[in-house]
Amino acid sequence: MAFVRAVALGAASIVAAVLAYGQSADTLLVNGKILTADAAFSIREAVAVRDGKIAATGTTAEMRRLAGAKTRVIDLQGRTVIPGLIDSHMHAIRAALSFATEVNWIGASSLSEALNRIRDAAHNMKPGSWLIVAGGWNVQQFKENRRPTQAELVEAAPNNPVYVQLGYGWAVLSPLAFKALNITSDADLPAHGKLERDAGGHLTGAVSGGQDAIIALFDRLPLPNFEQQVEGTKKFFRELNRLGLTGVGDPGGNNITPESYEAIFKVWRDGQLSIRVAYSLCGMTPGKEFEEYQSLLQLLPMGFGDDMLRFNGLGERVTWAMNNNNKPTDEEKEKYYKIVKWAAQHGMSVTMHWANDASAGQLLGIFERVNQEVPISKLRWSIAHLNDASPATLRRMKALGVGWTVQDAMYFGGEQFREQRGADAARRAPPVVTAKEIGVTMGAGTDAHRVASYNPFTALQWFLDGKTVGGKALRGPEETPSRAEALRLYTQGSAWFSHDENKRGSLEAGKLADLAVLSKDYMTAPVDQIGGIESLLTMVGGKIVYAAGPLQKWEEVH
Ligand SMILES: [Zn+2]
Repeated sequence: MAFVRAVALGAASIVAAVLAYGQSADTLLVNGKILTADAAFSIREAVAVRDGKIAATGTTAEMRRLAGAKTRVIDLQGRTVIPGLIDSHMHAIRAALSFATEVNWIGASSLSEALNRIRDAAHNMKPGSWLIVAGGWNVQQFKENRRPTQAELVEAAPNNPVYVQLGYGWAVLSPLAFKALNITSDADLPAHGKLERDAGGHLTGAVSGGQDAIIALFDRLPLPNFEQQVEGTKKFFRELNRLGLTGVGDPGGNNITPESYEAIFKVWRDGQLSIRVAYSLCGMTPGKEFEEYQSLLQLLPMGFGDDMLRFNGLGERVTWAMNNNNKPTDEEKEKYYKIVKWAAQHGMSVTMHWANDASAGQLLGIFERVNQEVPISKLRWSIAHLNDASPATLRRMKALGVGWTVQDAMYFGGEQFREQRGADAARRAPPVVTAKEIGVTMGAGTDAHRVASYNPFTALQWFLDGKTVGGKALRGPEETPSRAEALRLYTQGSAWFSHDENKRGSLEAGKLADLAVLSKDYMTAPVDQIGGIESLLTMVGGKIVYAAGPLQKWEEVH
């Protein structure tokens, strides 16, 4: 009888149970609209937090019963609370290293505003400092709808070397930057790099030549010193907290070396991480990847770390030879197979960058071969990107238990994709509704910050309206998720990729108290305003890591 009553009473019984132990809540958030993102997508009025976890959710009256003398009671005044957002594929560790020292063009709606940011940086940084825009923008976001010229860089910062990179295909440098890098002709550039010339044969100040050339060129820029890297890491993660993020899956990436992890390790050791990071390791040296993994990972088992920083396996570039390679040779595939089989034997996750559905079988064939020898279905392997995934590919992924991390690549790249592949292909990119029907586990994210903005609300808006940064609606309703479903991708969905879906990703008793109080109601705001939502208060493990505006008084000293 008592049991039946407890079930019937639901939240009230939890209150009773919590009170029975004589423990009051550390924090109550009351009078709100709590999107729990639980299985039924329940909406509650209040939430109680204790010892870094959700103690209970329920009505304001129920939660108030958990208040003790020291309980912090935050009146939400009707505001919406969501589980902390998790970007399942963000190059966050790399972005953080330079966040204190680079110029950011994310969200600039005109080229003149973007150039003003360079102008401001030239005033605020030491004379002669490098001013580096390392990506994260595209031409369509500017009302001028064009790239900057070298003359504009010089005009904005006449006394600084300036470097502006666009995705991985193009960069423009000021004369002082060329001088500092000792580049006067094509011969001085990394392999395949080319100095662009205008119709009259004059150098424009731009460099093209493909991804490898631009990556190598970026590697020649001075690195921030260690102190700047640590400062950048703290600043960048606070910036992510400002946007309601509480976790990322970090897939390594280009320009990353083992030393690149020193700064985040320090911030973690100092107990100052404000974003939970699950990180994967990329192969670093072409041809030597297996030896590197075997050596580097001998003392770093899968899952090692804690709830703030955890090692999450291999990827997103397992070998250089298979990276962006739609026609790998048998030998390249054999090398790759040996590595991922070894990873499976060691219980590791693997996340793999793959762009095109047409060649996805090359990768899935290897996964299937491994799976026959070492089952991988419990290891949370995943494919990132794959915006044109076909139902057949998704079914093969489902059969293997391979998940899919989905990014808003079409927000920046939609127009180009439609030009190359046609309107029908653009209508279904990425096919998240089909993937859900087939049963593939998905997480959302951005791939920031070289090729995309890190703003999760930009991505959420794009999930709902399919519009590019230039305002073109490309995706059809048949592949458009509901608001609840899009939020799930960014919370519970992303948590799966680091084996965390039972720990975070929804606001349910016993889960980590990671949440964000929003500036607007995500469920009812006009879709075109979702991209402008920010967090007013972000909590990670019960600690307020960010607070602003009407809730600023709750900011904890740190
Ligand atoms: Zn990638």
